[in-house]
Amino acid sequence: MAARDVHSYSEPGRVRVRHVDLDLDVRFDRRILEGTATLVFERIDRAADSLVLDTRGLDIAATEAPVDGGNWRAVEFSLGAADPILGAPLRIALPADADRVRVRYATRPGASGLQWLSPPQTAGRKHPFLFSQSQAIHARSWIPIQDTPQVRLTYGATIRTPSELVAVMGAAGNPTSGRGGMYRFSMPQRIPAYLLAIAAGDLAFAPLGHRAGVYAEPALLDRAAHEFADTEKMMEAAERLYGPYRWDRYDVLVLPPSFPFGGMENPRLTFATPTVLAGDRSLVSLIAHELAHSWSGNLVTNATWSDFWLNEGFTTYIERRIDEEVYGPEFAAMEAVLGRQDLEEEIERLDDHDEILHIDLAGRDPDDGATRLPYEKGSLFLRSLEELFGRPRFDEFLRAYFDHFAFQSITTADFVAYLKEHLLSRDSAKAAAVPLETWIEKPGLPEEAPRPRSAALEEAQRIAADWTAAKVPASELPFARWKTQQRLQFLRQLPSPLPLPRMKELDAALGLTATGNNEVAFQWLLMSIRAGYAIADARLEDFLTSIGRRKYIKPLYEELSKTAAGRERALAIYGKARPGYHPIAVDTMDRILDWKG
Ligand SMILES: [Zn+2]
Repeated sequence: MAARDVHSYSEPGRVRVRHVDLDLDVRFDRRILEGTATLVFERIDRAADSLVLDTRGLDIAATEAPVDGGNWRAVEFSLGAADPILGAPLRIALPADADRVRVRYATRPGASGLQWLSPPQTAGRKHPFLFSQSQAIHARSWIPIQDTPQVRLTYGATIRTPSELVAVMGAAGNPTSGRGGMYRFSMPQRIPAYLLAIAAGDLAFAPLGHRAGVYAEPALLDRAAHEFADTEKMMEAAERLYGPYRWDRYDVLVLPPSFPFGGMENPRLTFATPTVLAGDRSLVSLIAHELAHSWSGNLVTNATWSDFWLNEGFTTYIERRIDEEVYGPEFAAMEAVLGRQDLEEEIERLDDHDEILHIDLAGRDPDDGATRLPYEKGSLFLRSLEELFGRPRFDEFLRAYFDHFAFQSITTADFVAYLKEHLLSRDSAKAAAVPLETWIEKPGLPEEAPRPRSAALEEAQRIAADWTAAKVPASELPFARWKTQQRLQFLRQLPSPLPLPRMKELDAALGLTATGNNEVAFQWLLMSIRAGYAIADARLEDFLTSIGRRKYIKPLYEELSKTAAGRERALAIYGKARPGYHPIAVDTMDRILDWKG
């Protein structure tokens, strides 16, 4: 199962880290983490005399190993040249009998995997906040580690914070009450480095069931607990389909709005954007998605970032199966239809080589591969297998797949071999109808790709056509009774750009510029830019300066940049918003806007 990972300097085929113990101070005053990482390793090659770790922007003070019966002594290290994507390899000399090394180090304020927020950037506005985002290769910016998904390890941690703050990790030991500035964690299940996660801030906890709960700033806690009330039901649904939940607890941490993603599936503790707190549970597919990663991704993990679709395609498929169990087939169908629409739009934008599930990312930042493609095309591929072989047979296959590869990291080739042996070879007539190579190694979508349908969305589409043809006034649109997905479909189906008088008519009837639903607001703001609808200008600026979720800000800045005047405006807004964005979002936006500061 050893595939070369072009995004790591580590050499796990020679020496493999099995466990890490962190002892870190969270220094809000200097925006750094400072302390030690003790790495316990196994020599696969018994002659190996050095351990290579990935780092990015770490200040290494010393490396030590126990020699002569356990006394820690300094050992030599060298830090290689820094590559802009990969960072710098840290090579540590290993004494002959050592099985562990200790690295004394500190992060830097600009660490790509950490965001340090000042009090005004939080909901409570009184305390600072820190959170990590390690996927894809940002763990190395806060821990010297073998930062490849092929290496799985357990960990322990002692974390010190200012005494009034709470620290949490994707591990056992998260406090449900009390503070004191010293927290201990242990992670008994083996995980890859990209799932290492930490946050610290003014956090409170509310239980959602006997093994689920939510952490959030006190001001958001009740809303979050209400929004995510179905979490335990989702866990039960996923377990019925794919076998036991193997991570003991499932908690959700609601982050400040600068979090660049919807969610991050850190084991035991999903990190989530507050932009899904819609009040009506209409955006909780995000939780279904992150929970699904407890099987696809966290349990069976992509071995390299070229195999990312094994994480995200499977997870998107499972997310919709959970949606169907908990919210019914129509809800799942709406999500599937919108997913295919997103995919088709993405395919129009992407170059051919980025439309391949088994993508080649050599020489590129693996974050570049995180388009909608691996999610939605991967999901359609699995759905096509489900439709062909029948749901009972396919469910049985997937469940066995998760058992077989549990706590392992696998490549696309490993999956294909397993698929052939355990599904395709059992029915050669059906297998002949699967264009496997086209799905996995070719751009675009196979002709036979499933086309999901939803009666609820077709209704929204019909009514959009009627309103466009002036057959129904805006005041009679059934917007109030529609789910978020129907509202989105209605807006997406309108002519683009929509003439200004019609923008005004819709806004007056539906209050779109003022909507509190972020998905609807995003769609409306996109339409406003296209239409030159100045009434929404202030809302657009407010949206872009208060939310850092890349899914929203990237298309809005891109749309603005299509005209000279728009580009000027984009740069003016970005100049204000940039200090509040996460380093990962800043990296994306700097490139798109060609930002020179
Ligand atoms: Zn995901």
